[in-house]
Amino acid sequence: MLEPWTISSVRSALAAKKLSARELAAEFFTRIDAQNPTLNAYLTLSPERAYAQADKIDALIASNKSLPPLAGVPIGVKDVLSTRGIRTTCSSKILENHFPVYDATAVERLESAGAVLLGKTNCDEFAMGSSNENSAFGAVKNPIAPDRVPGGSSGGSAAVVAAGLAVASLGTDTGGSIRQPGALCGIPAMMGSYGRVSRYGLIAFASSLDRIGPFANNVHDVAAILQTIAGRDPRDSTSTTAPVPDYTSEIAKPVKGLRIGIPKDYFAEGMHSGVRAKVEAGIALLKSLGCELVDIRMPHTDYAIATYYIIATAEASSNLARYDGVRYGLRVDDPTLIGMYRKTRGAGFGPEVKRRIVLGTYVLSAGYYDAYYLKGQKVRALIAQDFRDAFTKVDAIVTPTSPIPAFKLGEKTNDPLQMYLADIYTVTGSLAGVPGISVPCGKTPQKNLPVGLQIFGPAFGEARVLQLAHAFEQAGGANL
Ligand code: GLN
Repeated sequence: MLEPWTISSVRSALAAKKLSARELAAEFFTRIDAQNPTLNAYLTLSPERAYAQADKIDALIASNKSLPPLAGVPIGVKDVLSTRGIRTTCSSKILENHFPVYDATAVERLESAGAVLLGKTNCDEFAMGSSNENSAFGAVKNPIAPDRVPGGSSGGSAAVVAAGLAVASLGTDTGGSIRQPGALCGIPAMMGSYGRVSRYGLIAFASSLDRIGPFANNVHDVAAILQTIAGRDPRDSTSTTAPVPDYTSEIAKPVKGLRIGIPKDYFAEGMHSGVRAKVEAGIALLKSLGCELVDIRMPHTDYAIATYYIIATAEASSNLARYDGVRYGLRVDDPTLIGMYRKTRGAGFGPEVKRRIVLGTYVLSAGYYDAYYLKGQKVRALIAQDFRDAFTKVDAIVTPTSPIPAFKLGEKTNDPLQMYLADIYTVTGSLAGVPGISVPCGKTPQKNLPVGLQIFGPAFGEARVLQLAHAFEQAGGANL
């Protein structure tokens, strides 16, 4: 296989005038035309916007002006991020014909840095799922093993990078939706701390958990994209004013002497033997780099899935109330107002979204609020405390990203609980608000499927997380 394009190879090819930004974009659209009918990873392409941006970059090159950091870099963006004038569906029938009137801040920042938006990527409907099979527009195939899922919910964003149909992409992570598909498709993928990246223009699933972050072919590119999209945005009051470090230079710092917490609670039964073997080899690799391994306990880990499915569904039921047939998207007419609501929402939402709205409405309802929602918030605080306690002893925490490698399409669609368990190692960090990356950690001996190693850092410790991931990658973590 050809070496994948990276941010630096794009930059040097453009600077050396080996090809123009327009030619590079055209090359990617050619690849997309060839592969997307099978993979179904892009839902909408944006060639006009891509070529207009590429021409701007080519004009800068022609006049010998300095190039912005992501000049000419072709990217895909998950279809839950608003893009002005470009269809944004959330992979839902209810938004099938939704054309936003503004851009998400993260998209705006990537384009200001010179990136070329190729199109919008498929995902689970409203980002609810772990396999991309909940998309109203069909499943995405894993480019590594086309009879298997790419993971979810940002399955399209992972697949386009892994298949060479974009140099990098944006996904969103509420309970694992960046890290888990990154692991299943064999590429690095990261969510920064809650508040690190503005959510303005992200169509909400669970607002206290939703985060935007990058997929790329190497950790350096993940760092470069995160650095571009991070930072305060007055249009999202939860975005932090904390300064954004220069992650691309921070990653080179040595990792010798860093203390790595290994939580026993994450290595319980239920983990695939191939995943266990590779993650153990990954941990040994970190040790060989001079990291100190420390056994830690995270005692509330067992409650994370239950807590997540209370809080995330409660927030979803509230956020999705806006799809009422009046303001956005689909409307199915009826002589009565309530009839119009029922028909619109009945026809517009898929089964998993309906299940979550019902669940979320239930846990918020009078009489059950204290028992479920309020209790869930208390347990969330305990899970966050587990992380804070751990970070008094260690610099980072290392776990598997997913208990299982990519599974067969259709294998878990009839069992939502089995599907929810795919997030068992990722939801804790989501509830705690800390940053986490998944970095390739070899392939299963049985079927040669990618395994991901997850690295958590303390809140706003992205630089440390990236440093470890970079050292791990440079030491050959992907080939264990
Ligand atoms: N798989 C989890 C869910 O279905 C997480 C989704 C996400 O992170 N958006 O909710």
